[in-house]
Amino acid sequence: MSRPPSLFVVAAPSGTGKTTMVNRLVQRNTCCKLSISYTTRAQRPTEKHGRDYLFVTQESFQSLKRSGKLLESALVFDNFYGTSRSQVEQCLLDGHHVILEIDWQGARKVRKSMPDCITIFILPPSQCELENRLRGRKTDTEDVINRRLSDAIDDMSHWIEFEHVIINDDLTKAVDQLEAIVLGDRQTNPATNPQLIEQIENILVSAAEIGID
Ligand code: ADP
Ligand code: 5GP
Repeated sequence: MSRPPSLFVVAAPSGTGKTTMVNRLVQRNTCCKLSISYTTRAQRPTEKHGRDYLFVTQESFQSLKRSGKLLESALVFDNFYGTSRSQVEQCLLDGHHVILEIDWQGARKVRKSMPDCITIFILPPSQCELENRLRGRKTDTEDVINRRLSDAIDDMSHWIEFEHVIINDDLTKAVDQLEAIVLGDRQTNPATNPQLIEQIENILVSAAEIGID
């Protein structure tokens, strides 16, 4: 590993492709481990307890929170999600990079409690493509898709709080960029890349225009 075991926070609007990207990263790099979050959301038919999430009741979630077992937690689309503190700490102690796939609210909290973490925001290439991906996934109802699409506009505005930004257009290229950040080989820091900022601004403006229609 070219850097010491580190904590990476990956956030993106739902449907952008962050799970797909992170899964590929973890498959390719055994030094990286994905943190499995707790959630009160209903389990999708394709999901497995312990692999995709730790599915818990509202009561269990609140008890985990009260007893300090969550590194961060947030209410996202009316369900609670949270990161296991012990899982993250153990993985780092074992010498692995840890990847958190969480929302921007959670990212803010982790940044406060673990300021050395490395934060990465992933954007879809456009709002239309985000809609195609949410529909193509076939995991959510029409109401859920519409809620996620409208929340995406606000979610995207938080890119500025992240150290790195990746646009997930071509999946292979996006995973390569993520891998390069994690392995410490490359910078995708918008502050040093005016072309990237222009691309990000175009995505946000077009998403906002669709949101107004
Ligand atoms: P998220 O974890 O951000 O909610 P997913 O990883 O579940 O998103 O991806 C949403 C859908 O988009 C999935 O069907 C996935 O296969 C597809 N997808 C992901 N990245 C791309 C890409 N670059 N191009 C086309 N489809 C993609
Ligand atoms: P989904 O229901 O599609 O699996 O996830 C919905 C949203 O919850 C995604 O934006 C995802 O990043 C976020 N999320 C998943 N796990 C966590 C977590 O542990 N903490 C926080 N804050 N958000 C999470």
